[in-house]
Order: sequence, then structure tokens, then C-alpha cells
Amino acid sequence: MIRELHEKLKNGEINSVDLTKKYFDEIELKDKNILAYLTLHKELALNAAQEIDKKIQVGEDFDLLGGIPMALKDNMCVMGGRTTAASKILDNYIAPYDATVVKKLREKGAIILGKTNMDEFAMGSSTENSAYQKTRNPHDLNRVPGGSSGGSAAAVVSDMAVYALGSDTGGSVRQPASFCGAVGLKPTYGRVSRHGLLAMASSFDQIGPIAKSVEDAAIVLSRIAGRDLKDATSAKSGGKFYEDYLTGNIKGMKIGVPKEYFGDGLSDEIKNISFAALEKFKKLGAELVEINIPHNEYALPIYYITVPSEVSSNMARFDGIRYGLSIDDQEKSKIGAGKLLETYLDTREIGFGPEVKRRIMLGTYALSAGYYDAYYKKAQKVRRLLRQDFEKAFEKVDLIFSPTAPEPAFKIGEKTTDLLQMYLSDIYTVTANLVGVPAISFPIGEVERESKKLPIGGQLMGRWFGEEELLNAAHTFELN
Ligand code: GLN
Repeated sequence: MIRELHEKLKNGEINSVDLTKKYFDEIELKDKNILAYLTLHKELALNAAQEIDKKIQVGEDFDLLGGIPMALKDNMCVMGGRTTAASKILDNYIAPYDATVVKKLREKGAIILGKTNMDEFAMGSSTENSAYQKTRNPHDLNRVPGGSSGGSAAAVVSDMAVYALGSDTGGSVRQPASFCGAVGLKPTYGRVSRHGLLAMASSFDQIGPIAKSVEDAAIVLSRIAGRDLKDATSAKSGGKFYEDYLTGNIKGMKIGVPKEYFGDGLSDEIKNISFAALEKFKKLGAELVEINIPHNEYALPIYYITVPSEVSSNMARFDGIRYGLSIDDQEKSKIGAGKLLETYLDTREIGFGPEVKRRIMLGTYALSAGYYDAYYKKAQKVRRLLRQDFEKAFEKVDLIFSPTAPEPAFKIGEKTTDLLQMYLSDIYTVTANLVGVPAISFPIGEVERESKKLPIGGQLMGRWFGEEELLNAAHTFELN
């Protein structure tokens, strides 16, 4: 898709301004039903499109992403633009700088159409935790698009953006990609700079592309990856063009099938689609190898200890003084000394939604003096063991396969009162973030619900910094 558009821009068949307008027309038409966008950057986008058109007209070289309209999850800073993370606490927050990924995209001439809806501060699996609106799944408007990058995934599959960026702390790029029928890539931890991404859980967060094809995801990754002095955890890994590694040949590649992932908890429906996908990989020349991830059963529990712990620390900066909303009650302030504390408490009480508050409380508890060893420290130890399971597995196999999610997109409201069910949505995705490996979700089939077809995604995980192999396997699957 990106390549085709690039060719058309290059040979003058289309220009970026018209293309950008066309996307805004689509948004105008569809987004009143889908509710994927929180903010549109019409003027900025059309100005950027004009700039790139001028370059193209005089025959200057331009990047594959140049002139192509895309969308950003609303937790990435765009200078001068509103960035809310779908929270009331940042309702009026205008970012004073560009996130590194945004800077990189701008330099390539990418056209940023606007900011997409998400679960508040990326906490959730359905985009229902947004303080603003509930995004709909384009395949069935009564269902969720997944989350937390639900707006980005819904925008891409309904042609309201060519591709989008999301962030993935425990599955937030992959699970919505699976629910909406898109490709979603979580890069290796450290591959993409997190500077300018509003932090959820800093040792988990990664920015990744949501796109219509694996090749598009690869093209985007090549342009956002690399070391950044503003993110000490970013790795020296830039300069590669992942799209050049898509050979379409996976002969001899070893794909691990963890026993633990295909046990009793998984429905026959998803199991069958997954096994059919594995058969297809086999036909394409891959070798399937049964493997074990012995500590897998602890993945979700340790995720829900360590992530809220990091969340509670990261959310401390939203105090009503430094960013966004500030509830400064004049009446209370007359009382005097309590004023500052009142401002903190009132702002956070009014500004944060229930899921964010829940995680702050859980995390504060897990980190508190009497419980630190029993919860946080223990969870970190098990996290290490899980990583060792993966190190061992990757001695035997090149990639690991699983479903992306245990089910297709669920109905709006279906899980909002049963949090455990909501958290279980991430059972297959959190592990890649716990151990830091790259993982991709790509369409492997569909199921029918109330005569509507709903997409199902499959997940491949790769070795640390092994995105080439990962992307090539998913691409080869997609081609055939
Ligand atoms: N749904 C998971 C959670 O609520 C993952 C979120 C994410 O990846 N940002 O924590």
C-alpha cells in the first residue's frame, strides 16, 4: 500500500494534498460512527502535504513515507498539538516538543492527520477506558476495536489513515490489530525511542506500527528505529531497511509451538484457526517444534504486579501543577496551609479515571515497605526466570507462535464489569513485553458472530533484535 502510493506520488498520478484531503473526507464520512480520532490536525497536515508536493514537482527525491497520511495514538507528543492520552487530566495539554518518532516521521515528510483514541494512559484492552469516547470496531459497530491503541487500529482498517503508530506495553498494538484485522508490530524493547511517549510502564513500553500489510509495518519500523540520546534505553540499531529482508522464503525456519499456549483455556475455534496457520507455515517450508515455556503461567500475574508498580510511579508527575488540568479550589485555598495538597488531591480525583486510579493503588501497594519483597521483588525475579525460558527456547527455535488473543473482538460493555476477563485478553501478548522480545500480530482467519465476520490474529515472537526474521515470516504467510 505505501509503496503503491509512493509510486503514484512520484509519477504525478496523485499529489499529497489531494490524497490528504481524500483521507479527511473519509474521516468526515466515517468517523462519526467509528469514533477513532480525538483530534484532527487539518491545517498542519495540509501544509506538510503542500511542502512535499513542491519537492516532488521539482523532481527532488523523497522518502517512501513522504506525502503519505498517517495517524498517531494520542499518547505521543506533537509540538503545538493537543496530547491527552485520552485522560481528562491532560484535556488542555499542548505538547511543547515533538516525540522522537514524530520528529523522525516529519523529517521523512509523513503527513500526520491527527491523534487517535485509546484507553486512558494506555491502560486497557478495549479503548473503553478513554475519558472521551468509545471507538467502534469497523467490522461490527457493537464491538470494541481492542485496546489500548483501538483508535489507531480502527482508523487504519477503515481507510481513515494509511498506517498508524500505537504503543504496546502488554499487547496494545497487537491485540487491536488482531481485533480489527490489521498487522501490528511491537518492536524489541529499545528498538524505538520512547522519548515523547507518555509513559505507562517504562520497562515495557514500545512504540510500534499498525498497518495494512507486513511490508508497510516494516517500512515504518525502518524509519522510526534507532538510538536516541533522549532515551537511555534505546539501542544502537538504526539504519536498517527491514523491508529489504522480506524475501518470501522461510524454508528451514524453526517455529516453536509452546505447549502452554494451546492448553485448556483456549477455545476450539481459535485453536483450529491457529493450527491451520501452523500447517500453512509448514507447507511454506518451516519446521514446527514443540517447546515449553515453564514459567508462562506466571506471566499475567507478574505483569499485573510490575506494570501497576511502574504506573504508580509514572503517574506521580500528574499533580495539577506541572501539566494539564489543575483544580485550584479558591474556597478551600482560603483555609491556607493545605492548599498545595488539596490541589494535588482534587486534580487527581477529578482528572484520572477508575482504571488509572486502580492501578495507582495496586502499584503503590505492591511497592510499599511491608509488601515490596513479597510482590514487586518476587515478580521481578519471576520475570527474570521467564526471560531465561525464552533464552532457552530460542536456542532451539527461530520464532514462537501463538494466537494473539483468546477470542475475537467482544461487545462494547461486555467486560467492563469483569476486570479479570478484561485482563485475560492479554494472556498471549504480555510475555513479549515482560521479556522484551519483538512480536507481531497478523490476520490468520476469521470467525462469524451474528452474521458478521470478525478477524482473528496470530502472533509470532522473535529473538531480541530479530525483527528481520519475524517480519519475513509474517510477510511470507501473508503472501501465500
Ligand atoms: N491491556 C494491557 C493493559 O491494560 C496492555 C496495555 C498496553 O499495552 N498499553 O495493561
